[in-house]
Amino acid sequence: MIPFVDLKAQHRALKPELEAAFERVMKTTQFILGQEVEAFEDAFAAFVGVDHMIGVNSGTSALHLALLSSGVGPGDEVIAPAMTFIATTAAISYCGARPVLVDVDPVTCTIDASRIEPAITPRTKAIIPVHLYGQMADMEAISAIAEAHNLPVVEDAAQAHGATRNGQAAGSIGHFGCFSFYPGKNLGACGEGGAVATKDPEAAKQVRVLRDWGQERRYEHSVLGYNYRMDGLQGAFLRAKLNHLDAWTEARRNHAERYNELLKDSDLVLPVEGPGNKSAYHIYGIRHPERDRLRAALAERDIATGLHYPIPIHLQPAYSALGYREGEFPVSESIAREELSLPLFPELTMEQQEEVAGILLAQLADAPRQKAGVAAP
Ligand SMILES: *Cc1c(COP(=O)(O)O)cnc(C)c1O
Repeated sequence: MIPFVDLKAQHRALKPELEAAFERVMKTTQFILGQEVEAFEDAFAAFVGVDHMIGVNSGTSALHLALLSSGVGPGDEVIAPAMTFIATTAAISYCGARPVLVDVDPVTCTIDASRIEPAITPRTKAIIPVHLYGQMADMEAISAIAEAHNLPVVEDAAQAHGATRNGQAAGSIGHFGCFSFYPGKNLGACGEGGAVATKDPEAAKQVRVLRDWGQERRYEHSVLGYNYRMDGLQGAFLRAKLNHLDAWTEARRNHAERYNELLKDSDLVLPVEGPGNKSAYHIYGIRHPERDRLRAALAERDIATGLHYPIPIHLQPAYSALGYREGEFPVSESIAREELSLPLFPELTMEQQEEVAGILLAQLADAPRQKAGVAAP
């Protein structure tokens, strides 16, 4: 049996560090914010290369606060890719604004920068590139468009802790970088968590106030804020885990390279890193028209896979009111039909990867015979 991610292996290896973190918080009983959260914020700010990091209770909250701090409100529009997890656009909707979707690039699966400018209107208030699967979007092109139109860029870096593009870290380029520490992410809490990165001290102050009920002084609420605070335990766990993130990213990149090598002679579309990109490989997604058959063959051998994502945002029932139609974003729709995420986690072994690849290659070799109606030997 091969799981899609193996958090048990990770936590076995980290048991002493995580238990020490737990004990520290139990001793102080600083369960919400407090020194452990501050220590993590400082360490993660240094890791990303920004001056300010604000710990919150989820990646969704991070996006919501970054958009609010960008001045996004009712009647506004925010540009986002059609292929992403719904949290990206949900955060826009929570502000009362409208997600304006654009298609993604067929090679990198990140927002197609050439389609952003035509989508800008007088109501546009921000652009959210998503560093999908761990690979950063075309930030040079996006930053140039944003600058020309005086729009803030909010990076959705929920899948891209430790990814870089031309040496710059995910979350450090836009006005805001938003991270998720959902357990299955490359840096995962033992529960929910998120963070907002920014270089702007005023914006940082605003986000800090908004995450804690809009109060600068206790029980004095200068704005209507939220209960979006990070737990002390999560801060302590995350700081312990952050020490291992570089090694985990390196392991993910090595595994991706091995999958590339094992599968290179097949007709599968394999992940491609765009120029200057070092992907954090949150997801290793292959693409094939017979995705469902390949997935079933792996499931039969107890190998877990994922789909990221089977329904693009514009075809989600929850967003039917936006008025998009099928066929409007063909690249996102083909990814939804054809993408298959293979098991990928730092502790994955060479033997496991060979087993996964072997099943895929056997299935692909069998396909023409099955189609021709000739019985397999
Ligand atoms: C996980 C994820 C989020 C949301 O993070 P949560 O911590 O689950 O709220 C946002 N955007 C993307 C692309 C994600 O993968």
